[in-house]
Amino acid sequence: MRSNWTDREATGLDPLALRVYSSRLLGSESSLVLYGGGNTSVKHEMEDEAGGVVRVLSIKGSGTDLATIDVGGFSPLALDPLVRLRTRSSMADDLMVELVARALLNTVAPRPSIETLLHAFIPLDWVDHSHADAILALTNQPSGQAVVRDVFAEDVGIVPYIKPGFLLSKAAADVYDNDPSVVGLILENHGLVTFGESARESYERHIELVSRAENSIRKVWKTPPAGRQRTSRVAAGLATRLRGQLSIRNRMILRFDGASRVRQFVDRDDVDEISQKGPVTPDHILRTKQLPMVLHGSETVDIVREINNYEDQYRGYVARCGGDASSFMHDPFPRVILAPGIGMFSTGRTASEADKVGEIYRHTMDVIEAASAIDRYQALPERDLYEIEYWPLELYKLMHGPADRELAGRVAAVTGAASGIGKSVARRLAADGAHVFVTDIDVVRAEQVAEGIRNDGGVAESMGLDVTDQKSISAAFRKMVLGTGGLDIVVSNAGRAEASAIHKLTLAAWNRSFDINATGHFLVLSEAVRWLRNQDLGGNLVLVCTKNTFDPGRDFGAYSAAKAAELQLGRVLAIENGEHNIRVNMVNPDAVFEESKLWSKKIREGRAAAHGVPIGKLENYYKDRNLLRTKITGTEVAEAVFFLASDRSAATTGAVIPVDGGVTGAFPR
Ligand SMILES: [Zn+2]
Repeated sequence: MRSNWTDREATGLDPLALRVYSSRLLGSESSLVLYGGGNTSVKHEMEDEAGGVVRVLSIKGSGTDLATIDVGGFSPLALDPLVRLRTRSSMADDLMVELVARALLNTVAPRPSIETLLHAFIPLDWVDHSHADAILALTNQPSGQAVVRDVFAEDVGIVPYIKPGFLLSKAAADVYDNDPSVVGLILENHGLVTFGESARESYERHIELVSRAENSIRKVWKTPPAGRQRTSRVAAGLATRLRGQLSIRNRMILRFDGASRVRQFVDRDDVDEISQKGPVTPDHILRTKQLPMVLHGSETVDIVREINNYEDQYRGYVARCGGDASSFMHDPFPRVILAPGIGMFSTGRTASEADKVGEIYRHTMDVIEAASAIDRYQALPERDLYEIEYWPLELYKLMHGPADRELAGRVAAVTGAASGIGKSVARRLAADGAHVFVTDIDVVRAEQVAEGIRNDGGVAESMGLDVTDQKSISAAFRKMVLGTGGLDIVVSNAGRAEASAIHKLTLAAWNRSFDINATGHFLVLSEAVRWLRNQDLGGNLVLVCTKNTFDPGRDFGAYSAAKAAELQLGRVLAIENGEHNIRVNMVNPDAVFEESKLWSKKIREGRAAAHGVPIGKLENYYKDRNLLRTKITGTEVAEAVFFLASDRSAATTGAVIPVDGGVTGAFPR
């Protein structure tokens, strides 16, 4: 590992800005810290309200991330009252949190790190702490102390494993006091602390110690490259079956990783043994659980039984460690699933949470393999893991997220979503928390829609999908399933207008309309139903039809006939899939012009002629012919789709909702 320090960037910065600078240097190395792990601090002086000077410890706030931290991510604390706490022999966690909070000099600062006192008790101004992979590979051994001494001789102090908090802070400071010539402290099964008179000294000591650990590991083991991602139909099938079972209480998102590096680990002969020893640091347990699930025999495996076994194992661990005190239990489902021959699945309530779990486990693979190459990988006893997993101070980290939205954990695919109604629907579903696939034949515009959703804080991915091409459809569905584990909502929307009187209609135009407006829905929805049945979680299909299906107009035969076929297709799908709790419903909009690709100039001209109105008055014509005298926009259609796609319509299937402002001729019948 190289130092990324550059004087050009660091000179002239005040202590806090400098603290931000070198914290981000640490945070940018994923083999040092992951997602909120690690912390840094600086001791400096500040003027108080009375014009006096107060000694301040500015420490990373809990829940902030070193990679992106800013000045506001640090909590300023009065240093002296914290230092005085070291004279106590013990302190309950609640009291520690209370006393640290009382020292806060800024009431709107984030909650200080739970490792605050460790930073306070080290007398040097700059302190850097990480959970470096290479350090963990050295300490997580039966003979960890000897391995650490072998690599670092007397340059570091070794602090035996203690749960973070008052006692660890005191023990670390005692080890330092015992030999202040050390440049760092190795916290067993936890990580590395370095310190210095300057930001640069503390940071570079950190990099130097980690490099020495890496060099010693490199003699016996090399980090494998990530390699090629391999996906397959079998992996996708397994993903949906897993998601179906893991989402019975709460919908989960599954991410698949089939990279060569991952496959090399899951294909090890000893994967059942080596993966079941425990996490590399207790800090990871809240995201990954204490153990991954290993799933052999992907196509034949009895997933229900395997998950039950995992659940029993987890309950056993909680019962053994928590005893009668364990009134609360996290859900007993795995977060990491290793499938030999296939790859790894990671789970979370959101794709980004599942990605974090996957990333942590990829580092876990490195540490386990490096430690095994040195001697033998050994994790902490399960009681120590339990203590962290059920520690109120750690749970705090997980609790500051926003409350779940209505479609949280749901996966939705919308066809023809690059414009018009499809775009409005994609935005509406994302606004309520769905993970949305914006699919369209126009990939560029689909990506623009997805980007817009992401900019508004939603989750969306774009995907090319041609509803007339079965290959394109099955490839897109496989990709979606491997990206999220499955599907909950499919909105079949893509459509195309063909205007002509029937006696003048060409066969080509007739076929074009049927290819998209009838067969396109058949291809998309039949594919969707296969995945939904395989997943076995129910589901929602919504077909965007048209007011024309009940109330056709002249010169619109190819369109109206194909859309009528679509409506009938939806009804039969509802009949066939009710027993699988797959609901199928339709919306019948009338004339949505807004941002629509369907209303090309040619179609406008054709419809204006058919209705005998000037083209400039066409939109008003549609508005004036409905009972509410209202212009229909994508927003109203999307609202109806949202109702049908959510649990709000749990007792409705085979239904048609008109969104046409009230056209009596189009009342459903
Ligand atoms: Zn730590």
